[in-house]
Amino acid sequence: MTLHQSKQDIVEAGRRLYEKGYIASSDGNISARIAEDRIVATPTGLCKGTLSPDDLCICDMDGNRVSGGLRPSSEIGMHLFLYRERPDIKAVVHAHPPTATGFSVAGIPLTDCVLPEVIITLGSVPIARYGTPGGPEISEPIRQWVKNYDAYLLENHGATTVGSDVMNAYFKMETLEHAARILLVARQLGGVNLLNREQVGKLLQLRERLGIRGPDPACLTGEAPRPPQTTDGNIPTRRTRSAGASPTDCPTPGDAPSDQDLITEITRRVMETLKRSD
Ligand SMILES: [Zn+2]
Repeated sequence: MTLHQSKQDIVEAGRRLYEKGYIASSDGNISARIAEDRIVATPTGLCKGTLSPDDLCICDMDGNRVSGGLRPSSEIGMHLFLYRERPDIKAVVHAHPPTATGFSVAGIPLTDCVLPEVIITLGSVPIARYGTPGGPEISEPIRQWVKNYDAYLLENHGATTVGSDVMNAYFKMETLEHAARILLVARQLGGVNLLNREQVGKLLQLRERLGIRGPDPACLTGEAPRPPQTTDGNIPTRRTRSAGASPTDCPTPGDAPSDQDLITEITRRVMETLKRSD
């Protein structure tokens, strides 16, 4: 990817992030690796929805500005951390998409297997614990996820995606927010049905055939993320695996039914018995 194309893509991605409401004011930041020791990044303090290629800055891998009149993003440290940890990636996008950020505030990772397209293209999205924005604190919590995941929720903050180029990382942010919106609606409607192991297995085969990297999206490696927080009961979640199951356990058709499933089954049998005794 040339410097010219990278700049064009950063400007375009910034415009889309702003228009979709994934960032407000001067939020968010985008960068691309243009050489082994050079990145081009959005500047601090400007709205990313109205940037021009000349607004962008070029930095070395220590975050020193090499060219461009404006200072790079305050989150440049997180971008450099990701490039150092992942030699395979060429772009980083950070934003605050409202629904996905809501999940990060609620402490709910997007790790359940519910949507085929998300499993194939994005995989799981864990939560990195909170770190103060603009400093090294924000990067360290991502370390445990960085090798195996391309999208991370940042606790009480937002989301970051990485990719093979700027638009690849941008589209992962779109997929992440879209999935979060669907999951929120499902929760509001009364439940989330998980795909079972066989269904997920077929999707993983498809993912492999498409050459998409990353681990089994249903099974997190390393330290497990926080389990979904218990709600006050107003938003019941129906699951095909037992409540409290480790996130490292893929759902299986034989898993224990949830309380809701048991109640439904008992009610059905009682009604059948009553009908027979009429
Ligand atoms: Zn942020």
